[in-house]
Amino acid sequence: MLVFKNIKEMQAYSRNHRSAGRTIGFVPTMGALHEGHLSLVRQSFRDNDITLVSIFVNPTQFGPDEDFHAYPRNSEGDIQLLSELSVHAVLLPVNEEMYPEGFSLSVQVGETGNRLCGRSRPGHFDGVATVVAKLFNIICPDRAYVGQKDLQQTVVIKKLVREMNFDIDIIVCPVVREVNGLAMSSRNSYLSKEERRAATVLNRALKHGREMILIKEVSDTALIIKELEEIINSEDSARVDYVEIVDAEKLLPLDTIRSPVAICIAVYIGNTRLIDNIILQ
Ligand code: AMP
Repeated sequence: MLVFKNIKEMQAYSRNHRSAGRTIGFVPTMGALHEGHLSLVRQSFRDNDITLVSIFVNPTQFGPDEDFHAYPRNSEGDIQLLSELSVHAVLLPVNEEMYPEGFSLSVQVGETGNRLCGRSRPGHFDGVATVVAKLFNIICPDRAYVGQKDLQQTVVIKKLVREMNFDIDIIVCPVVREVNGLAMSSRNSYLSKEERRAATVLNRALKHGREMILIKEVSDTALIIKELEEIINSEDSARVDYVEIVDAEKLLPLDTIRSPVAICIAVYIGNTRLIDNIILQ
């Protein structure tokens, strides 16, 4: 497996495969890889001749009071995991390679980036869209693989591709969970043993929402949100950032249930902010 730190070399490698008629699947990540990331890599392997992965903790998507410096980094372990999966190449650039002196452009996502996570993370999705646009221009993949775990991010990336005319198919892969239902996340490493247990409340709340909608056929979203917030608040260490019921395509809030609907939640467990969602058809 090749590891590129240099963008031009990565570009040339990718271009050579394209010229030889090979299809390229791309998995952008911030590293500290877990089974969630690896599920995207495996899907890319099934669909493409070549699979490329990037590992880059992107500073522009972190707010000034967020965890950029503390974010888990394990590039040696990540490279080991990816080479075991026979990934063809990894892009592992340093900040100065991605954002050289004088870099000033940015993609403005607008309204879609201001809802849900965007409310407590202003500018986050502009940072995501900017780095993803750069990575897409470097790799020029046929397909890019993203996780439904970050539902709003998938919507933003699809919008970026559509509106900026990237010729790339965005493939959204299902949320990978621990046996206890906790969605896998690099940030789970911040949690103490007790917090890990408390964090299962996110999945419990989502399951309760699914039951209210699909089995009890409750259609008043305010009522559903209230019950979900009560479940989350029943955990001492949990604090709701948001519970929202939105249409799964544009993420606009719904008063009454209609398909496809997404229940999206963000919850602080102690100091760690976790997100999760389910889509119901
Ligand atoms: P990150 O390294 O957190 O930026 O994530 C890189 C990609 O992996 C994103 O497309 C995420 O949505 C995806 N991902 C992260 N966690 C999971 C998970 N538990 N299940 C599926 N995909 C995931």
